[in-house]
Amino acid sequence: MRKKSIEQLKEIVKGEVLLNEPLSKHTSFRIGGPAEIFCRPVDAEDIKNILNWAKRNRQPVTPIGNGTNLLVSDDGISGVVIQLSNNISGIEFDSNSVFVKSGNTIKDLINAAMKRGLGGIEFAWGIPGAIGGSIVMNAGTNSHFLSKFVKYVQVIDFNGKEYKLLHDDLKFDYRYSILQDEPLILTEAVLSLEKADEEEIKKAISDASNKRKGKQPLEYPCAGSIFKNPPTTYAGKILEEAKCKGMRVGDAMISELHANFIVNLGHATAIDVLTLIRKAQETVYKQKDLILELEVRLLGDFNTNLLLKKK
Ligand SMILES: Cc1cc2nc3c(=O)[nH]c(=O)nc-3n(C[C@H](O)[C@H](O)[C@H](O)COP(=O)(O)OP(=O)(O)OC[C@H]3O[C@@H](n4cnc5c(N)ncnc54)[C@H](O)[C@@H]3O)c2cc1C
Repeated sequence: MRKKSIEQLKEIVKGEVLLNEPLSKHTSFRIGGPAEIFCRPVDAEDIKNILNWAKRNRQPVTPIGNGTNLLVSDDGISGVVIQLSNNISGIEFDSNSVFVKSGNTIKDLINAAMKRGLGGIEFAWGIPGAIGGSIVMNAGTNSHFLSKFVKYVQVIDFNGKEYKLLHDDLKFDYRYSILQDEPLILTEAVLSLEKADEEEIKKAISDASNKRKGKQPLEYPCAGSIFKNPPTTYAGKILEEAKCKGMRVGDAMISELHANFIVNLGHATAIDVLTLIRKAQETVYKQKDLILELEVRLLGDFNTNLLLKKK
């Protein structure tokens, strides 16, 4: 990238612009090579300016949130990575509706709503994502999804045009929204919450937190569930039955505590994790004639031919 173009980008963006920023610093897996250009915009105007610059300079764009569902390539990501994390935040209420910027965490949202006597989303307590990434992923538990509460979202397309997408436009499904397949950046969401008493909300938070305690290997860097649950069972149960717990490639290991979590024991690389994913898929396929599909998102260049895929 020409020095002059980078200087132009720095001039038009109020937020941070960093070059060759290691993405291992921005992912919960602590894995990932450098982002060629890493931007932390502070508002919608900044996002539009970055997108317009990327278009003019023919640079690919990759949005990320808190990086808690990502496996980033060891070679990093070329072009511009736009982080929508605590740099883009703000929560406002109007009756039962909450207007939340994409960078706020789920925890921020639950706490702010509780102060207004609003709840319903406490099931998501403990999910470490930002709101934007969590809506993109339709995060949730086995029985509750964030999508139920989403009225509409505000997005900016990669041409810099801003518009609204209603709940039905988002085509939500289990761990899916259309935002995974479209060149769009989610900047704000409007959710409809339920009236609830503070004590009830606190109890629901404590229940959600207890369900996670001792079941997830939180002492190690990880990216949550690696595989999606098949329609009538749990990926963790299947992996455990196939004796995948403790399986290891380099410093990447299938957790002894929860078989659907891969943990980074210290110096795991993305290729270690991908090779381990393939090993687990093959083991399950041989024993159960079932192909587990990825929940974790792969960003950057990967040889995805390594993976087993449903036909
Ligand atoms: C310990 C742990 C526990 C977890 N538990 C759960 C759980 O119980 N349930 C669950 O569903 N998930 C869980 N996860 C996974 C993860 O937290 C969720 O998927 C989360 O919602 C992702 O949000 P994020 O901000 O980290 O998104 P990221 O991981 O940064 O990004 C996810 C995807 O969204 C895209 N993206 C991110 N932000 C935007 C944006 N603003 N606009 C457009 N695209 C965007 C990215 O390109 C990527 O494709 C867990 C993860 C960890 C580490």
